[in-house]
Amino acid sequence: MDYLERNRDKRYDPSVLVPGAQTVIVCLLSFEHSGKDYHRRVKSMLYMLEAKLKEHFGEDIVSNTHQHVFCDSAPMLERRWAVEAGLGRIGKNHQLIHPTLGSMVHPGEIILNRPVNADMTPRGYRRNIEEICTDCRLCLDACPTGALRNSVWDARECIAYTTHHCLECQIVCPYNNCKQ
Ligand code: SF4
Ligand code: SF4
Repeated sequence: MDYLERNRDKRYDPSVLVPGAQTVIVCLLSFEHSGKDYHRRVKSMLYMLEAKLKEHFGEDIVSNTHQHVFCDSAPMLERRWAVEAGLGRIGKNHQLIHPTLGSMVHPGEIILNRPVNADMTPRGYRRNIEEICTDCRLCLDACPTGALRNSVWDARECIAYTTHHCLECQIVCPYNNCKQ
């Protein structure tokens, strides 16, 4: 996981990635609606949102010199920003879990160069977010390799991390409503 050490400054401070950054908007798109080319799908939706923001708040709300729309394409702590935005919490399966969308979501971000006075506790969500995972351990028991142990995820033992063909810890999660 050496990549996490690279560009560490950008990961923790978006203004290093996009000079002038003051706000990170995080959006989530469920796997169900994103299709295989989720980067393109998520980004196209973010560009539509960006157009609306420019229309209402002016062209200079985003950088005109730096890339400022991202989906899994930049050194960004995407899940951290999603949690900070009140969209969910990191579950025992080490995925971001949204109270109604579950964990099968792709985050995308728009970085604004203006501050936003946002309510980070969307009405009706806070209690649900705090309750996520409390009495459950389905993912820990389902993990075929033992990569998930209590609060620890061992990437060296995770099939998804090494071969990309395991979703067990998400399939069993009651927040995902999987029928398999
Ligand atoms: S993806 Fe598979 S191997 Fe990795 S933690 Fe989840 S269940 Fe375990
Ligand atoms: S399966 Fe249960 S413990 Fe695991 S992430 Fe989902 S709710 Fe949390």
